[in-house]
Amino acid sequence: MKPQAAYDELLRRSRERALLASCAAVLAWDEDTYMPAGGAAHRADQLAYLAGLEHDQATDPRLGDLLDAVEDSDAAGAPAAAANVREWRRLYDRTSRLARPLVEETARVTSLAQQEWAAARRAADFGRFRPWLERVVALKRREADALGYDDEPYDALLEEYEPGARSRDLAGLFGVLRAELAPLAERLAAAPRQPDVGVLRRDYPADRQRAFGEAAAAALGFDFTRGRLDAAVHPSSVAVGPGDVRLTTRYDPHEFSDAFFSTLHEVGHGLYEQGLDAALTGQPAGDAPSLGLHESQARLWENAVGHGRAFWEHFYPLARRAFPEALADVALDDFHFAVNRVGPSPIRARADEVTYDLHVLARFELERALVSGELGAADVPAAWGEAYRRCLGLTPRDDAEGCLQDGHWAAGMFGYFPTYTLGNVFAAQLYARADADAGGLDAAFARGDFGGLLEWLRVKVHRRGAVVPAARLVEEAAGGPPDPRPLVAALRRKYGELYKAP
Ligand code: ZN
Repeated sequence: MKPQAAYDELLRRSRERALLASCAAVLAWDEDTYMPAGGAAHRADQLAYLAGLEHDQATDPRLGDLLDAVEDSDAAGAPAAAANVREWRRLYDRTSRLARPLVEETARVTSLAQQEWAAARRAADFGRFRPWLERVVALKRREADALGYDDEPYDALLEEYEPGARSRDLAGLFGVLRAELAPLAERLAAAPRQPDVGVLRRDYPADRQRAFGEAAAAALGFDFTRGRLDAAVHPSSVAVGPGDVRLTTRYDPHEFSDAFFSTLHEVGHGLYEQGLDAALTGQPAGDAPSLGLHESQARLWENAVGHGRAFWEHFYPLARRAFPEALADVALDDFHFAVNRVGPSPIRARADEVTYDLHVLARFELERALVSGELGAADVPAAWGEAYRRCLGLTPRDDAEGCLQDGHWAAGMFGYFPTYTLGNVFAAQLYARADADAGGLDAAFARGDFGGLLEWLRVKVHRRGAVVPAARLVEEAAGGPPDPRPLVAALRRKYGELYKAP
């Protein structure tokens, strides 16, 4: 077969798989938002059917022949085509190394393990989940062996979420973060001046939270003619297609921060999706190159922008108008201090931006040891407690607020956690460069103008898709390879200022 014809056939198949995946995305979004409980069993059948079709397509041996015909040819010469061929090859090799029985058993066991995990968490009883964790870890170790690796099995799993990342590099990055952030968090928690977070736990009617969150999303540049924001149990963002990005958040009428900052986080993911090159839809080159880079866009808008003083100079008067009962007697500085409170807590999902990566570090160490076999499932609660004492200086009350708090392991997602921290690291690097290029972004933010930052991200990140791998994209956009120091510097500067005695 001629290389160009092989390329065209690969492209056709890639678009078809993307269409299947986008059908599954609509069904999954509907399940999270509007599906009645009675639809659950049929929905599971629909999703399993689509997943099976997608898997068959992704592992069709014909893909191997087509790739052989196109690699090293002119048809793979242009940057987008080269990126497509690179990613098609990577995915084909990965999926075809995994035998169907292993894939099916993993799907079955993780589906049951997630139910057992949920029940174990409700009962705060790790013992109930332990045999399931053992089975999932054993399957993931078999998966890593089938996929192959140079240094350690965890690398093979990491590759699923962050192509090119290696445990050894991540360990170095986490080492820097722990050395800097653990003492910073301790100092801030012990500082004499502390925020009054009670102001965030007053009455914030859900309908007004929704209106305020939507107004903020629109002001940041989220296009509601090509996206939606709905309520769901868990905040998420689902890209259905180039003109259709679904965000969800959740509202607690007695708490302000959770819904608002979850919304900004998902808006960050959504802005990225809305900024991808629509001409490359259905091609890997037109997608995000890694979860870490995707997360960086969420964390950038949530933290660097949304937790900043300049952002609230613009939004606080609007917040006061939306929630006069809660905020009439609260000054801007006190509100801004409250939303930026730092304090070690046992729960990752509620962690502030200084301690967040310490939670991720604990998980990275534990799952790496589980996959290598150094740590047995039975010893997880003790190891978890030890890691939390070491990283955060606290001891979880029970398994529910300890090792059972996250569902990632039950779902078989080993290697996913580090992408959260990579997101923070990339976000800090990108934001520092965007800020420097603009000669300071704060003045525009204080006027409610976020277009300059969005356009910078459009050009340097979003429209580039996966034409280069994530680490290289960050290097080209930010001017340096992935590096935790800009994150540490930004946090030291910001919190040193905030917690300074008046
Ligand atoms: Zn996210």
